Amino acid sequence: MTPPANAARNSNAARDIANVLHPYTDHRAHAVNGPLVIARGEGVRVWDDQGKEYIEAVAGLWCAALGFDSKRLADAAHKQMLKLPFYHAFGAKSHEPLIDLSEMLIERAPCPMSKVFYANSGSEANDTAIKMVWYYNNAIGRPEKKKVISRLKAYHGITIASGSLTGLPANHKMFDLPVSDRFIHVSTPHHYHGAKPGETEEDFATRLATELEETILREGPETVAAFFAEPVMGAGGVMLPPATYFEKIQAVLRKYDVLFVADEVICGFGRTGNYWGCQTYDITPDIITCAKALSASFLPISAIIINDKIFQGLADGSATIGTWGHGFTYSGHPVAAAVALETLKIYDELNIVEHVKTAGGYMQKLLRERFEGHPLVGEVRGIGMVGAIELVADKANHKNFEASAKVGPRLAKAGEAEGVILRGLANDTIAFSPPLIMTTDEIDQMVDRTARALDAVTVQLRRESLT
Ligand code: PMP
Repeated sequence: MTPPANAARNSNAARDIANVLHPYTDHRAHAVNGPLVIARGEGVRVWDDQGKEYIEAVAGLWCAALGFDSKRLADAAHKQMLKLPFYHAFGAKSHEPLIDLSEMLIERAPCPMSKVFYANSGSEANDTAIKMVWYYNNAIGRPEKKKVISRLKAYHGITIASGSLTGLPANHKMFDLPVSDRFIHVSTPHHYHGAKPGETEEDFATRLATELEETILREGPETVAAFFAEPVMGAGGVMLPPATYFEKIQAVLRKYDVLFVADEVICGFGRTGNYWGCQTYDITPDIITCAKALSASFLPISAIIINDKIFQGLADGSATIGTWGHGFTYSGHPVAAAVALETLKIYDELNIVEHVKTAGGYMQKLLRERFEGHPLVGEVRGIGMVGAIELVADKANHKNFEASAKVGPRLAKAGEAEGVILRGLANDTIAFSPPLIMTTDEIDQMVDRTARALDAVTVQLRRESLT
């Protein structure tokens, strides 16, 4: 007997509903609607288990920088698995992929850096950075200097500590975060929503730097240890800093001896048109956290890169407070490290930064041409190969739709029908963060499919008198 045409789907969907608990998913809706099962990938495209093709406009989760196939990365993993599938780095054990990768990261860092530590995810990298800052201040004899400041709408991860650093009130509320009063949030540097009428980007930046200074003074500078920031805020809504923001913020941090931790989990490795987001915005960080594109996401690995000031403090810690008691079984896993090493070589060979400058410039121009005049689009923003369109109910007043209208999720769904995987963020913001290898032809197709999906949603909303 011939199985029904949708047998594979039914079987996968039913088994998924029966057994899988998904991240960031409405479990009840999932039980009705089922999953989108992705079966294979090639270049900037993936195919579902029914053979339907999609362009991945967000590289998965901003991460599959080389797209969805690479024999070289598969070979690098295979070779390392045969040679040494596992070893750890505790107690000064080491292996060549760990040494080679660390050397390459130090060489490529945006400012003089000293050492690299590894974890498996962006969240663990930021958790580790928090612990480093706390250990550092204990080690150098200022145990009261522990508070960390981040921004509302920042996304730094979901573990108890990195989730506390994340600045999404909804995420905090559902998990009783922040976990302690050591986590402080200041305003989001998004001119479109945050600026007062007529306020220039520079004036807005000055106001935010003043707010930061007042926050540090209110808390007591002797208690404030570090400021965490994504150069371009990603998952909170792709928000670019207003002109002069980081210059003014860094001046305040220097004045009160507060460390700068740059979260380069999305921006690192070319995304903004420079190797690091820090270079795009003239940031000199003490610590960098990175992940995602570090291994083009073929395997999980993240890195924490520290400068010599931090290293010297950590090194002194053995004598003053006890040896650095932190590390993951898989810190610097040899197979993940070998894949990351090969990834960085591929970026060099492809001259990925130059490609992002050209193709990303094209993407930014096209997004503006196609969407700025659209009646539902309030703002088109972005730099390099990261961008977004924000859908609004009232363009003149920058007013979003009611969340209950689910405009962003509708566009993501309509995108699927058109063959483009889109990611809807808060405020009905649709992100574009495609694989860095995307060509201008593929950018055209991605934008065409998105435009068709947006037209379909516009018709739906008109029919429902929502616009
Ligand atoms: N920092 C940033 C800037 C991120 O975008 C993310 C994930 N999107 C994280 C940290 C957390 O990374 P992970 O999901 O690997 O824990």
